[in-house]
Amino acid sequence: MARYDLVVIGGGSGGVRAARIAASHGAKVAICEEYRYGGTCVIRGCVPKKMMVYASHFAEEFHDSASYGWSTTINGFDWSTLIANKDKEIDRLNGIYINLLKNAGVEIFHGTGSLVDNKTVKIGDDEITTDKILIATGGNPYMPPIDGIEHAITSNEVFHLESQPQSALVVGGGYIAVEFAGIFNGIGTETTLIYRGDQILRGFDQDIRDHLAQEIVKKGISLELNNNVASITLLENDKRRVTFTNGDVKDVDCVLFATGRTPSTDSLTLANAGVVLGRKGEIIVDAYSRTNIENIFAVGDVTDRIALTPVATMEGHAFADTFFGGMERLADHDNVPSAVFSQPPVGSVGLSTEQAKKAFKNIDTYTSEFKILKHTLTENSERTMMKLIVDADSDKVVGAHMVGPDAAEIMQGIAIAIKAGATKTHFNSTVGIHPSTAEEFCTMRNKD
Ligand code: NDP
Repeated sequence: MARYDLVVIGGGSGGVRAARIAASHGAKVAICEEYRYGGTCVIRGCVPKKMMVYASHFAEEFHDSASYGWSTTINGFDWSTLIANKDKEIDRLNGIYINLLKNAGVEIFHGTGSLVDNKTVKIGDDEITTDKILIATGGNPYMPPIDGIEHAITSNEVFHLESQPQSALVVGGGYIAVEFAGIFNGIGTETTLIYRGDQILRGFDQDIRDHLAQEIVKKGISLELNNNVASITLLENDKRRVTFTNGDVKDVDCVLFATGRTPSTDSLTLANAGVVLGRKGEIIVDAYSRTNIENIFAVGDVTDRIALTPVATMEGHAFADTFFGGMERLADHDNVPSAVFSQPPVGSVGLSTEQAKKAFKNIDTYTSEFKILKHTLTENSERTMMKLIVDADSDKVVGAHMVGPDAAEIMQGIAIAIKAGATKTHFNSTVGIHPSTAEEFCTMRNKD
């Protein structure tokens, strides 16, 4: 007889949620994690990253405060204070995750889990049998195999750099690259962001991409498009000499590769159970997060659906409710909002203009570009952009996007409206909160 009803491999957002909800439904659950409970998001992703964004944005706030009458003397930024405080909070969160599991009655293992067969999981010297297996092992940073790549770091290491680099090269044009370029730039590191394509944030609305690029350059980031890293050599003074594909050379203290993440399946020995992988190494699952093997499931980044923490949590919860709670539920991947914590941040939900043009016969777009009230008194030249995309035939709002302060906070509310099927008429008839930036979403009357 199986010792457990469920064994979860991976203690990140998706795995922990699934384990404790399944246990709360009465299942006998075990979970294993090889690094630290909390997973990428809590330990070396979203949470510490956002702390670093706060840290770095103070520089601009101090500067802007002068126009509001404050006289401040800034004595510099201390990297080690930030890292120590951040580590303390991450330790606390790690403990909270472990307690959540303990309180739910989940048995906790520390170690790498692998499949012996479709009913047996090996963790260190232990072999445990189970009725169902859930794989929630997330992903690992991908680094292209170029000469000298060992002299570069990824987002795994950036949270533990011993000192603040005086100069940094950030490679990539996605979420992590844009966010860390902003962090470094804000704390005073001379920052270059290099991206191989025409414009950063591929997949986002083109106007939003262009606007963000313009804003980050205004804030001091040196943006290199249509260029890439060819090789890196380590110099005697500990600097990295980077040679670019266009032949240019640059010496920097730190090279951060943010060139995507790959599903983490290497140590799982999935072949022992016959689990099928996709082209990118992701675990292929159906709408119930079930793999090709009847009793093996997978949620989160390892499935390469939408690589966001709240999505993994939703998938894990739906899995636990469906298979242990007697409540059949599917994770809903439509209209998932997201934010890029760049400076200024981006918030986005629904379709981009380019996607909407393909999905609908007639679309209307509304764009507003302005200086927020706060900056009418400051010398800060930052400009905010907001955009609504409407299916002209049904009047439904099918996309909302923003670059500007509080974009994530604003977009969460807009996402609820879009999820509920709000029309442009609903937006127009909603009274704005004045004075706010968000009210602009209710007052955009002129089509582009
Ligand atoms: P992304 O997939 O967002 O971006 C990867 C970037 O690296 C792209 O610009 C890509 O270029 C570029 N790239 C890939 N391969 C190479 C290469 N060989 N040489 C040069 N450039 C290359 O990945 P991230 O690493 O930024 O983040 C991973 C995922 O984590 C995100 O997709 C997101 O889902 C999640 N995340 C979410 C955050 C949030 O919600 N705020 C924050 C951080 C991460 P190209 O566009 O040409 O393919």
